[in-house]
Amino acid sequence: MSVLELSATQLLEEMNAGHVTAVEATQAHLDRIARHDAKVGAFLRVDAEQALKTARDVDDRRRKKQPVGRLAGVPVAVKDILCARGEVVSCASRMLEHFAAPYDATVVTKLRAADAVLIGRTNLDEFAMGGSTENSAFKPTRNPWDLTRIPGGSSGGSAACVAAGFAPLAIGTDTGGSIRQPAGLCGVTGMKPTYGHVSRYGLVAFASSLDQIGPFARSAEDAALLLETIAGHDPLDSTSVHAPVPPYSEWIDQPLDDLTLGIVREHFGPGLDAEVEAVVREAVRVYESLGAKVKEISLPHSKYSIATYYIIAPCEASSNLARYDGAHYGYRTDESAMSAELADERTRLEAAGDTRGLANLDTALVRMYRRSRAEGFGPEVKRRIMLGTYALSAGYYDAYYLKALKVRRLIRQDFDRAFEEVDLIVGPVTAAPAFKIGDKVDDPLAMYLVDLYTVSANLAGIGGIAFPCGFSAAGLPIGLQLQGPPFEEDRLLRATHMFQKATDWHTRRPALP
Ligand code: GLN
Repeated sequence: MSVLELSATQLLEEMNAGHVTAVEATQAHLDRIARHDAKVGAFLRVDAEQALKTARDVDDRRRKKQPVGRLAGVPVAVKDILCARGEVVSCASRMLEHFAAPYDATVVTKLRAADAVLIGRTNLDEFAMGGSTENSAFKPTRNPWDLTRIPGGSSGGSAACVAAGFAPLAIGTDTGGSIRQPAGLCGVTGMKPTYGHVSRYGLVAFASSLDQIGPFARSAEDAALLLETIAGHDPLDSTSVHAPVPPYSEWIDQPLDDLTLGIVREHFGPGLDAEVEAVVREAVRVYESLGAKVKEISLPHSKYSIATYYIIAPCEASSNLARYDGAHYGYRTDESAMSAELADERTRLEAAGDTRGLANLDTALVRMYRRSRAEGFGPEVKRRIMLGTYALSAGYYDAYYLKALKVRRLIRQDFDRAFEEVDLIVGPVTAAPAFKIGDKVDDPLAMYLVDLYTVSANLAGIGGIAFPCGFSAAGLPIGLQLQGPPFEEDRLLRATHMFQKATDWHTRRPALP
């Protein structure tokens, strides 16, 4: 078997047994990236030199029988929104195109300590705002199953990377679905952990109360391995929680007895694609055949989740993104062009005797802020900043932001009540398989609706996992989502593994031309 077909777990076994070296494994993945990524566009940057250097070091230590880390020699791709010291962290934005991170994110520190081979930085929607990776300022990413279609987003680069076999593992972030949704659309396993389980230190903030970092892999077993490497309390992130990190990968093979799954009545309404519904219902039957009981439940406030999310997320984004002003970080407008523009305007106003216009003329500083932000941010980011600023402004704060916070609490209470009756909630990840590139770019609302089934987990702070459970007639992956009570990642992973032992959907690979 080629190293490219091995799971991360198998690759580790082969390397530890001395059958494969980390350099061979890394080189094989680099070659595959070189051959295919021009078509897929999963990566913004690949650092072959650094990757091979880490791999050589791991091989050296293995040869000398010195201790190595948990992921020693395994290629891992990282979404280009986590800081790695000295490297560009672009967030797929012109704003940070040349900005080098001054420190490592905690997740990156942990990956380095585990001796993972950091192979490259993956594409995303600008500042993780989007559901298709078309909002990247640099290029779209394509779905490896059909290159005319989107891979989902915002972690589309990481999902496509794992689906295309460019790396067995990748890191993504999920604010409203950005790990689970692209995992579902690309046919890989992706998990959004409970809020606070993985440190956000060094993650460039989009919506701080919703953002979580999580793993992409081709199986629950591998996702468990990556999650146990990156999770845990971090004094550098005040929202990170003192919760134990169980040995997820060791426990993964223990099936769950007396498992009760909840099916959400509201998830099977109009708008759900018939093919997706049929595949998801069949997946639920697989669980029943494995001994699970299934119960219908209701999440009555879930119909407000998109509206609530699109108030709270833009509010937090507008505040978080205020720091990009041309002075502190990143892109600054061309100041000589700006001064010339200002002088021209002044001359024109003076000639017209427009004293009011002259009095209202921006100072150079304000103009610098305005131009830097106008030129540095793309349209979706600007839309979010405007929405958020509006919803937070005096007079509207109570009507929108405060109201949204109250509904957010009700959404959480729905889940709390549901989890008194069931162990996990099962349902679709998205209402339809991957759509065509360009299909929704002119319709932001349609794009927002893509997250119908995923955003409520972020609003409630609970964990969720997505993995393939079938394919459409056109050959596109269809995902299944499980959601669990806070800090029950172990249950989510073991339930996913049960399914993956009984089926082989997760083993299918796209045939790249
Ligand atoms: N698609 C959602 C949005 O655009 C979610 C993004 C995310 O999870 N980062 O906000």
